Amino acid sequence: MSITVIRNAAIFDGENEDLAHDSDVVIEGDRIREVSPGRARVEADLEIDAGGRTLLPGLIDAHVHLMAVHLVASKNLHYPLTLMTAKALPRIRNMLERGFTSVRDVAGADFGIRQALEEGLIVGPRAFVGGPGFTQTGGHGDHRFKTDSRLDRDRDSNGVDFHARIVDGPEQMRQAVRDELRKGADHIKLMASGGVGSPNDAIEDWQFSEEEIRMACSEAAAKGKYVCAHTYASSAVQRAVRFGVRTVEHCNLIDRETAAVVRDCNAFVVPTLVCYEVTEQHGDALGLSPYVMEKLRFVNEGGIRLLEHCEAEGTPMGFGTDLMGEMEYAQSMEFVIRARVQKPVDVLRSASSVNARILQMEGQLGTVRAGAIADIILVDGNPLEDIALLDGQGENIPLIMKAGKLHRNRLASASSGNI
Ligand SMILES: [Zn+2]
Repeated sequence: MSITVIRNAAIFDGENEDLAHDSDVVIEGDRIREVSPGRARVEADLEIDAGGRTLLPGLIDAHVHLMAVHLVASKNLHYPLTLMTAKALPRIRNMLERGFTSVRDVAGADFGIRQALEEGLIVGPRAFVGGPGFTQTGGHGDHRFKTDSRLDRDRDSNGVDFHARIVDGPEQMRQAVRDELRKGADHIKLMASGGVGSPNDAIEDWQFSEEEIRMACSEAAAKGKYVCAHTYASSAVQRAVRFGVRTVEHCNLIDRETAAVVRDCNAFVVPTLVCYEVTEQHGDALGLSPYVMEKLRFVNEGGIRLLEHCEAEGTPMGFGTDLMGEMEYAQSMEFVIRARVQKPVDVLRSASSVNARILQMEGQLGTVRAGAIADIILVDGNPLEDIALLDGQGENIPLIMKAGKLHRNRLASASSGNI
């Protein structure tokens, strides 16, 4: 196995606020072999001088939709899956270019995309997938027009139905969860409240019954997996985590008491603030309906308070973005938005070690330590002092390594071996 050493880096290990300066990281195969506080004695195939730059674990985005190639979901109705996949490829690649070496897809991507990434057939981050998001009839993922009375549209092969599976009743839920786990889902996604982009529901609606949510959680837990749920309002978030949901997504409208309930249930909040901010800016031009735009403004207002409540209660927050279609360019703006309330180090912890816990990959991803998967980025400057260095399209990230393989290296390297 080939050995790479990155010398003279200032390491953020995913947790510690104090950078480890003048450190070396030795990578063997797809793993970190050694983190050395000083010069590592090693004969490497490739030596890279970090020049004092900041070395971070590869970033993790815990809320993406790799296959959502349009902001207006109904446009996907006319897309065959082949065309949708082709259109998704540059989106997926761009995420890696911004330094995201792992993402969690929470409605859309399936085991085929995950495997294509694993095999290097397509370029992008490592993907954790759940297949389609589950929605009840008339719920957030049910994009049927009111004139459409067919009941089993979830089996059609178009871009809309690829993203959602309509499930009603605990027994259907049991079968659907088992079916997606059979296909290799890493997690199960439930639409447990109304949403912005859906035509038939209000933001405050509860969706799925207690029996349905509990069924999903127990079936997922039986295979060591977990449930994440789309939720906005306090009551929807509280019932989700009390019924066993492990990560609650968005949560823009929660109060402080609800942040405490999430914490006490050992669950995580995954804010996705950037999607509301940029979609509000561009939604009219991109064809969102006035009804959807009204819902969007409503949830956008709540976003900053969400961060304050979770900070005050010590509720663990992951890092997510939720950008659809044309908005994907703004992914890394989420760092800047979060830093309006949080310290940069806490935002970086969310996008590294906390998200790794969400992915059930603690100690493997989101960390720089011996034995971890070698997902590494180098940043020009110190993002713990200026987190905006991560904004944009990866311009300030001269090196990106995923599983020990260099995706980008703009630094001078000394090669002494067979790489
Ligand atoms: Zn989403």
